[in-house]
Amino acid sequence: MKSMILAVGCWLSICSVAVASPDDRPPNILFFIVDDLGWQDTSLRLHAQGPPHRDAYRTPQLERLAAEGITFTDAYASSPVCTPTRTSVMTGRSPQQNQISYWILHKDRDTGGPREGTTPPSWNVNGLQPDDVTLPRLLQKGGYLTIHAGKAHLGAKGTPGENPQNLGFDINIAGHAAGGPADYRGGRSFAKDPAKPGQSVWDIPGLEKYHGQQIYLTEALALESVAAIEQAHRQKKPFFLHFSPYAVHAPIIANERWLDHYSQLPKKEAAYATMIETVDRALGTLREALEQLQILDNTVIVFTSDNGGLSAHARNGPAHTHNHPLASGKGSALEGGTRIPLVIRWPGTVKAGRRSDIPVISHDHFPTLLEIAGVRCPREHDATVEGVSLVSLLQGKDHSVDPQRALFWHMPHFWGPRGPGIQPFSSIRKGPWKLIYYHHPQPQRVLFHLGQDVGEKTDMAAQQPQIRDQLSQLLGQHLRAVKAGLPRRNGTTIPYPDRMAESTKKPN
Ligand code: CA
Repeated sequence: MKSMILAVGCWLSICSVAVASPDDRPPNILFFIVDDLGWQDTSLRLHAQGPPHRDAYRTPQLERLAAEGITFTDAYASSPVCTPTRTSVMTGRSPQQNQISYWILHKDRDTGGPREGTTPPSWNVNGLQPDDVTLPRLLQKGGYLTIHAGKAHLGAKGTPGENPQNLGFDINIAGHAAGGPADYRGGRSFAKDPAKPGQSVWDIPGLEKYHGQQIYLTEALALESVAAIEQAHRQKKPFFLHFSPYAVHAPIIANERWLDHYSQLPKKEAAYATMIETVDRALGTLREALEQLQILDNTVIVFTSDNGGLSAHARNGPAHTHNHPLASGKGSALEGGTRIPLVIRWPGTVKAGRRSDIPVISHDHFPTLLEIAGVRCPREHDATVEGVSLVSLLQGKDHSVDPQRALFWHMPHFWGPRGPGIQPFSSIRKGPWKLIYYHHPQPQRVLFHLGQDVGEKTDMAAQQPQIRDQLSQLLGQHLRAVKAGLPRRNGTTIPYPDRMAESTKKPN
């Protein structure tokens, strides 16, 4: 019964209580979501151990934000890849409920189809569309000027959802269907072929005025965002800025301005470090604009990522080690795939320099930001929201979010590269325990105690059959509740994790 309550509890979300700022105007919201930024990709310390190049990273703006706000050490992306996490932020629902369980690109085309004898369930390959209830749409109706800047990747090319303005954003700066840029350099028109910008699906739209200039994409997005913030200020409207700088997603291309800071690193890693520094400097640019407009202290700033750090390819050094001590990286069921940085600055509410190890997940931002804005969620949608509001936690009530709350992931698709934990899976974290249910090559469960083994090296499934079965049951109940599909092998759909024959073998 207790497990049933836990499984159902995630559905009960309240996003209706207004939080008034001292002058009774709702706060501005800067939601800064970096692409593929790993848990260990900054100079903000989240763990005593780290990968070899961590000490070289320069993110003083993030460190300052953390010193003034709250840092979450156990924050998670809703998915180990882009679109599912991003659409979960927009809706407050898990990727498995949205049925957006993989990344999107072209209308009606499946980017995550059958492989190695395993066929994924059908899913929403077109992503979000205008009829969907979204965070920016609700904030827009609540009087906010809603601004999208950078990577959108929320709806497929050839559908209305490819344009963020069809999803509730008043202003769209350079966002479209694609999840990565052809090029980061203005000197190359942010395009595959600088002579023909706009020809490739990866070419960045809408920044023509920077073509031919020595400017990095992240920098151009920050400048355009400042102009949009100034517009909101002139209109005397609160703003919601969804700042999504494409970086640090591949292609890994240096911002040459900062390369001399990283001469000690191998070439690819030096380039990657400049991308991180440029993101941090963009945070600084936005902060400076807020200071100049004297609205910094009436602005909530959320800094996070959309999935774990890239480690399977395109990097110097051994693959799958760049998020150490976390195992693996982007695309993986293991912690490196989903654990991400999260810092929130909310002056007058969040006590400076706080840290929290309460597990939280990307779809929590939806009810949190609506509550901060004092904007009501329509009842019908609210009944489906799985995220919980973090407002009480931010106000100082540590246990207002249950540290034993179960978090769930479900990606029944292969990601491109292979590596540890990179295969179709469902998983659950509850307290210190995490169970992964691999769908391929045959259904298999592994169990880790993250408190003692954050690197997920020791499978405890055989030693702890009771915990394994309890978590399997919670995971099965959740997947059935949200109608999550499972893959087929040899014409048969694999069983839910609590309805499989005994198997505790590790995946090959
Ligand atoms: Ca991503």
